[in-house]
Amino acid sequence: MRSQVFPQSPPLASCAALLAAALSLGCGAGAPVGKSPAQPVAQAAPARDRGPAPKASPERVLAAVEVRGRRPRALSRSARLPSGRACFDRLLRRGVAFRQTDKTGIEAGITLLGRLGSVALEPTITVIACRMALALRLASRRLRRMGVRELQHWGAYAFRKTLTGAESLHASGLAIDVHAIVYRGQRIEVKHGYVRGLSDNCGRSAPAINRVTCRLRRMQLFDQLITPDDDLNHRNHLHLAIAPLDGDPR
Ligand SMILES: [Zn+2]
Repeated sequence: MRSQVFPQSPPLASCAALLAAALSLGCGAGAPVGKSPAQPVAQAAPARDRGPAPKASPERVLAAVEVRGRRPRALSRSARLPSGRACFDRLLRRGVAFRQTDKTGIEAGITLLGRLGSVALEPTITVIACRMALALRLASRRLRRMGVRELQHWGAYAFRKTLTGAESLHASGLAIDVHAIVYRGQRIEVKHGYVRGLSDNCGRSAPAINRVTCRLRRMQLFDQLITPDDDLNHRNHLHLAIAPLDGDPR
């Protein structure tokens, strides 16, 4: 792990928090669904073809999800997110506090030390790929305008494969699992607040988390956005991910 910190000397990172971030088991990593129009991502097998959801621990459930098939390719918008030093510089200009962090599998890995713009991550200290942090930073303005103040997550980077042996975008730090949001002062869990099967997730009458997913989808920035509508493994969280660029570690 490198020690370089931006934009200022960081508070002492909580070892426990860092360990938790490093060990967290995200879900859907690999590469299932991508719903944005015309996005060239690998399609996951429908949940109904996978049999009943496992009755194991939440971690096992998360690890069981994922990708079947090839890795997705970046959508036009995520493909424009810079990598390497250019990404660090962009994140720095956006006012995000972070520390460069070398981890196996991550291109331009960082440890987040503060807010992503006007939206907070909880836990704050999160190991993630710079490009994914930048994507979340870009999304934060739109989320803030909706009334979202915080994204609560189970982790971003987790170096592992799925139970099926497929590659996981969490292993590249390019995915995050959001299980709750703080919206207009109220904490809303995905498992309770997301209503499945709505014909319109974007309408004013739709629940807040449904509208959040609608807004994120419309940004066409995330190559994977998996919701409780997609399969039982995601009944309690949103999996957001961007695809790696050619040449990124695999
Ligand atoms: Zn995930």
